[in-house]
Amino acid sequence: MLVAERIKLLAARTGFDLCGVASCRRFAESEARFRAWLGKGCHASLGYLERNVDKRFDPRLLVDGARTAVVCAVGYKNRAGGGYPEGHRAKVASYACATDYHTTLRAMLHRLFALLAAEYPGLAGRAFVDTAPLSEKRLAVEAGLGWIGRQSLLVTPRFGTYVLLGELLLTDEADRYDAPFEGSRCGSCRRCLDSCPSGALAEPYEVDARRCISRHTVERETDGRIDLGGWIFGCDACQSCCPYNRQAPMHALPAFDPLFDPVAMGPAEWLAMDEAAFDARLGATPLARSGLRRLQRNLRPEAEPDAGGAAAAANRCPEKKTADGGAAPRGE
Ligand code: SF4
Ligand code: SF4
Repeated sequence: MLVAERIKLLAARTGFDLCGVASCRRFAESEARFRAWLGKGCHASLGYLERNVDKRFDPRLLVDGARTAVVCAVGYKNRAGGGYPEGHRAKVASYACATDYHTTLRAMLHRLFALLAAEYPGLAGRAFVDTAPLSEKRLAVEAGLGWIGRQSLLVTPRFGTYVLLGELLLTDEADRYDAPFEGSRCGSCRRCLDSCPSGALAEPYEVDARRCISRHTVERETDGRIDLGGWIFGCDACQSCCPYNRQAPMHALPAFDPLFDPVAMGPAEWLAMDEAAFDARLGATPLARSGLRRLQRNLRPEAEPDAGGAAAAANRCPEKKTADGGAAPRGE
């Protein structure tokens, strides 16, 4: 039997800031809310969200025999997460300033699994970082890491929403499980709702991906243009305003050091960049998924869609900190 406190100790040694241990079960209420949200068409062109909904809300269907979910989080706050000066026209979501977190978190989870496997021979399970239909936010609440904020993101008391999640689904049982995080600490705050520049947060706990700048700048678009408000990749407007993010510490892991500073870069610098410079400087960041041409197009939203960039963005894993990651309703 797995010892929960030992798992947490090893997770901390691996570099994770938070770790909770949850029992795998079906989250029927969350599934019902998610289906209702899909029914309203709020997922826009993110058609993959319609598939595997049953698996998304029952980890046991994803990993046969899964009993224990180890939910890990790491804080990634950097300078860009504090927001941009008024009128800045080349804004980038702060998670995209560092090495692609899929790479970093996957390596950390594999290290954690190896440490556990050394202590529990025969340990079986899988690691997940945005790579499968898995309700990561719901699992994080279940593991006691935080609550769902009004902008529909996981909010942790210490690191706010500037956390990246990764999970191990294991077939062994643990000696104890964390209590789910009860309630919300948002109080009467509505800053995230009021800060959304595009009207995607008309209803609390429900992002309308059709209007979300994050989706429009990162994911494939098939339903017209919106005003991007100066964002060229992602959007942090409903996060940089959150009081929990304001008081959150800067990231501690060097792997999340920014590789560039978008606060100091204006449109001219982006437009003058060529592919070689982009690859050399930003090739390891999530921006590489989008490509330079698409970023430059987002600086000139009146231009024709860049078919190459849009096609390249299609069929990729959903970005955790973008529209689809934040779009799903409370508890997803
Ligand atoms: S990420 Fe989407 S929901 Fe959040 S502020 Fe930006 S446009 Fe609004
Ligand atoms: S901005 Fe306010 S309402 Fe939104 S998640 Fe943060 S505390 Fe909650």
